[in-house]
Amino acid sequence: MPTLTRTVRLPLLHDNHNHVSLYAALASCPDLADMDARTACSFLHGLPQDRLTVVRGWRTNELVLSPEELAGLPPVLLINFSLHGFGLSDAALAFMEPAVSDIVEHRHDAPWCEANVPRLFSAYCGLAGLDETKLASFMAGLKVLGIGSAEDLVVAGAQAATLMSQSALSSRMAYWASPELYEALAQPERQACRGIKLFLDGSLGARSAAIRGLWLGAGSGILAYSDAGLYEAISAAGSWDTGLAVHAIGGIAIDQALAACERALREGARFTTARLEHVQFIDRNQASKARELGLTLSMQPNFSSDSRDYADRLPAAALAANNPFRMLIDEAGFTPGKDLIFGSDGMPHGIAYPAREALFPDYPGQRLSLEELVAGYGLSRGIEGSVWLEIDEERKTVRIAGNEAF
Ligand SMILES: [Zn+2]
Repeated sequence: MPTLTRTVRLPLLHDNHNHVSLYAALASCPDLADMDARTACSFLHGLPQDRLTVVRGWRTNELVLSPEELAGLPPVLLINFSLHGFGLSDAALAFMEPAVSDIVEHRHDAPWCEANVPRLFSAYCGLAGLDETKLASFMAGLKVLGIGSAEDLVVAGAQAATLMSQSALSSRMAYWASPELYEALAQPERQACRGIKLFLDGSLGARSAAIRGLWLGAGSGILAYSDAGLYEAISAAGSWDTGLAVHAIGGIAIDQALAACERALREGARFTTARLEHVQFIDRNQASKARELGLTLSMQPNFSSDSRDYADRLPAAALAANNPFRMLIDEAGFTPGKDLIFGSDGMPHGIAYPAREALFPDYPGQRLSLEELVAGYGLSRGIEGSVWLEIDEERKTVRIAGNEAF
């Protein structure tokens, strides 16, 4: 019987968009992502009463917690699967107040949270703790999944920047910083920093990305900057002789990013590299404008599955418009590895899941060849090696040999 499984040797790759310091810190925290709602609920109720537990991977579409339920839980900080947004049980407040009173104060203020994502990340990282051992074990975990090096968009605080720049594995890790942190960094940490990261809108997980049209059910797009404020932030970043990375998921945020970049570049802002992160709902006109401005699109093929996972919240037109790789490459002229680069955002880590979404997407416009995917990731930095990728054409699954299949 002919087999439809093929095995391909892949070099270790570079993940252009990950959250190294945050994920390394959170690796030791319990993860709700793979628990069903019932299991997660009883797990949360069984947590210790005498200390704060930081829990990650909370999918708000699967585990809905009312204020009454949060009031009944032990001290717990629940970090949203998307990393944007969090929940706190009532009992957590007393534990968090001394260390991160700003987070406690703004816990119900979604626009504040979206405008302060780097602050959230450094608070998560501080509460969970980070050291060289955690960094090394995180990078070792990525290597098994086919990723040799990764960029941290955005480093979780000054201490994390010092750890990463002085790490024995520093050649395999790059990091970006918020404007506030960049200015505060000492010279060696600033030298090691790839550039300044700005967050324009929220996420799909937290129903806060600035998409065109209405969310199904709850949710509303959040813009962290006014048009003028964004122009000023980009202009200021453009005087530091460093890179720029702008998080923009929805069409409204992408429009805002393009307009502000165009004006700042025209008026003299310069960057070692200028990237738009995610741009999941970029349209043809926006793509042309991005090319004209010389911007690099930094995208995540693994988010093609948002077209399945978020059918509960995204209008049908948005599901179909997500990650339009064929349009970007075949019509707008982007080249993987040159001005179209790929990363995972750690959702999940590794090359198998994005390979599955590239080769077997729900929408034909999301398809990428394996060559395009590999070129968009690029070769790993600071370490060489390879992994075997098993592709099952019949089941439409992909796995790294010996690992879990997606
Ligand atoms: Zn990210």
